[in-house]
Amino acid sequence: MQEHGRKILTISFMTIKTAAVKEKNWKFETRAIHEGQEPDPTTGAVIVPIYQTSTYVQEELGKHKGYEYSRTGNPTRKALETSLASLENGDFGLAFASGMAATSTVMNLFEQGDHLIVTDDVYGGTFRLFERVLKKYGLSFTFCDTREISNVEKALQKNTKGIWTETPTNPLLKLVDLKKIAEFAKERHLISICDNTFATPYFQNPLDFGIDIATHSTTKYLGGHSDVVGGGVVTNRSDLYETIKFHQNAVGGIPGPFDCWLVLRGIKTLALRMNRHENNALKIAEMLENHPEVLKVHYPGLKSHPQHDLAKKQMRGFGGMVSFEVKGGLEAAKNLLKNTKLFSLAESLGGVESLIEHPASMTHASLPQETREKLGISDGLIRISVGIEDVEDLIGDLKTALEQARRK
Ligand SMILES: *Cc1c(COP(=O)(O)O)cnc(C)c1O
Repeated sequence: MQEHGRKILTISFMTIKTAAVKEKNWKFETRAIHEGQEPDPTTGAVIVPIYQTSTYVQEELGKHKGYEYSRTGNPTRKALETSLASLENGDFGLAFASGMAATSTVMNLFEQGDHLIVTDDVYGGTFRLFERVLKKYGLSFTFCDTREISNVEKALQKNTKGIWTETPTNPLLKLVDLKKIAEFAKERHLISICDNTFATPYFQNPLDFGIDIATHSTTKYLGGHSDVVGGGVVTNRSDLYETIKFHQNAVGGIPGPFDCWLVLRGIKTLALRMNRHENNALKIAEMLENHPEVLKVHYPGLKSHPQHDLAKKQMRGFGGMVSFEVKGGLEAAKNLLKNTKLFSLAESLGGVESLIEHPASMTHASLPQETREKLGISDGLIRISVGIEDVEDLIGDLKTALEQARRK
């Protein structure tokens, strides 16, 4: 009974909050700074404090202020969860210890015997979780090119229960038509999920197109400063929220209060940073497209991108990720990586500083070589996360390194 009563309390609290946002009709930049972050009720602190506590005192049996134990709930995490929901135009938000913790907790919605259709070039860690961990528990997956809805249709089985998409994808920046996927899923009662890490809620809101769940690695643009690992989930469906929240507590992949605080701080400047990431990325993509040492550039903001029109339709901006193929294959790629000075050779993305990496041997090494080749992740492919430094400096750095790429 008591457990039941507490649950209802949580839901009504959430409902009141989101109703308030919709009434106020705040724009994205305002919500990013204020939503879920009222001054601290006990001290008036303008910034949500880091509630570094594992447990909460009860005045008498069952009488408390809404928190009992920090795996179940924590005020700093609550602020982040409210903020995430607001940014994604959703009713319910949940925060996790990492993007992968968010992904695996969402996957707890499915049961032994269920089948999912998955975008074929999903994040390498997602592929690894599905193929090497969840298969053992009786889930099955069909990876397909979700750019074409006909491929999704072909992958459908009697036991299909969900569609897991990512758009833009990593590292080839392919797009998925979210509206079409959502309609396809709704007609067949499948749960649709979109990993929205690359676009961020500033440039794209999957729930607006009817997608059931948006997931995030907050490690990337939301955190934005390469100093925290975290994940997030947002949905409008209270049934899904209840089940994911149950598993968040039952499985325990929760973020600590300090990590929540860092992501909240990052979110405050998300809009400013994303505009700058995008401006820089577009200029760099245009430079690369005209560079004699470059075979191909992948960036949804380029007119040459095969899905540029879809990008303009479902995204408000094209993001800060660019990938390109250099002439000369692995040798040239290695030389390029050795010779950049501003672009640091590192995995991850979405921070203020520019990073460069080699998908085939780094972020996507967990994909079998055969799969990589099929997808187009060649040995000459380079991925850059364009930071917010001065764009002329960044272009100069890449040009110098490209000139040296095929020299011995
Ligand atoms: C990084 C990333 C993840 C995993 O997130 P972690 O925070 O590293 O666990 C999932 N999806 C995408 C698109 C990512 O870039």
